[in-house]
Amino acid sequence: METLTAKVGNVLIGSGNRIVPQTMCNTHTSDVDGTVAQCVRMHEAGAGLIRITCPGMGDVKYMKEIREKLRAMGIDTPLVADIHFSSETAIAVAPYVEKVRINPGNFNRDHEEACRQFSRLVKVCKEHGTAIRIGLNHGSLGDRITNLYGNTPNAMAKAAMEWLELCIAEDFMNVVVSLKSSNTIVMVEAYRLLAAAMQERGVVFPVHVGVTEAGNGDSGRIKSCVGISALLSEGIGNTIRVSLTEDPVNEIPVARYLADRYDGLIGSSMASVRISERKAEATYDSPSRERLILDVACDFGKRLLDKELDEISIDGIYRDEDGKEVSIAGSGLAEYLEDELMQATRRRFYKPEYIACPGCGRTMYDLQGAFEAVKARTGHLKDVVIAVMGCIVNGPGEMADADWGYVGEGNHKVSIYHGKEPVLRHVPDTEAVDKLVELIEAESASKK
Ligand code: SF4
Repeated sequence: METLTAKVGNVLIGSGNRIVPQTMCNTHTSDVDGTVAQCVRMHEAGAGLIRITCPGMGDVKYMKEIREKLRAMGIDTPLVADIHFSSETAIAVAPYVEKVRINPGNFNRDHEEACRQFSRLVKVCKEHGTAIRIGLNHGSLGDRITNLYGNTPNAMAKAAMEWLELCIAEDFMNVVVSLKSSNTIVMVEAYRLLAAAMQERGVVFPVHVGVTEAGNGDSGRIKSCVGISALLSEGIGNTIRVSLTEDPVNEIPVARYLADRYDGLIGSSMASVRISERKAEATYDSPSRERLILDVACDFGKRLLDKELDEISIDGIYRDEDGKEVSIAGSGLAEYLEDELMQATRRRFYKPEYIACPGCGRTMYDLQGAFEAVKARTGHLKDVVIAVMGCIVNGPGEMADADWGYVGEGNHKVSIYHGKEPVLRHVPDTEAVDKLVELIEAESASKK
């Protein structure tokens, strides 16, 4: 898809340019040295952009320091300030970073006032050559939009178009847009609607693509590859983030794989495929387990999402760490991958659906440890969506359609949510997983 080009520091985002893999720090922004060290690791791993949370005015000075330290080390990777609610913080930090990520709909409950605040930010960004990402997430669209269009992919695309129209009216085109969801069907549909709307409008901004709160491990990688590859294969997407609840440096090889694959630099390790009666039987000859997983997700994710296929069956070989050939079917990987892919495309659920944010500078507890503990204790449950979120400010709003939420408050305390409602607050973190499991089991027993 032909797009405009956004200039983010020394990186160009848009058609004609390579897809840019990016990631986000999970350090506290006030920990300047820790954040700089993480940025260095991200840069060395190949991050094209690095996002850092800027929760409040007090953090602007840290952003400035982090940038200065990185530049003094000769690292010129553009920095993106992540802003959630405060237009004033966005305006204050804009001169010191290459891009600001905002959801302007969250600036103010009064839409007219939010528009005024957004215009002020645009003016500052124009003055300093700072780009803007308009980043809307399913689950945090705000009442005005959901009252008009429901909590739907269409609402996400409509909300984004409103803000893009304002950019056009202000003659500010240094903009990237994203519409993320943890649900691959919602996410793919929202981006497709947005792409169509921008094409109809005749002004197509570059697009940042990602599956938000994808979780970790194989599931997080497969879910991300399904959503991102479906769009990249249609030419939608100019910069990508693979959100994992892990060390953020781990996101880069996956994002790099996706970027290279859809820039046409690498191909799949699939050796052959036979498709009949909506079932694909594929044989792989893969250099590694990790590569096999990414290839399978990209080869079949979109076709399962779009219901062009109902079933897949995988066979062949991959090589283990010592270069030894391992049979895919013989190792049990075939069935596991088929289950994971069916779940990532939301065709069949063989285990709980987990939503987990990657964490950021707002996280005040051991998010990765808590997510592992929740998974270990709930893996036997069925037909339930469980969210594990890194902060109490944004977590509840961002966990979208989860049935249950485990939200770290900080100070070793946890809030447990049922849908959008907090049912237990300030639970000590040593007891929180037990409480969550008790509540889920009590509810499922009451339904029997
Ligand atoms: S929900 Fe997670 S990623 Fe989002 S702001 Fe909170 S800690 Fe950061």
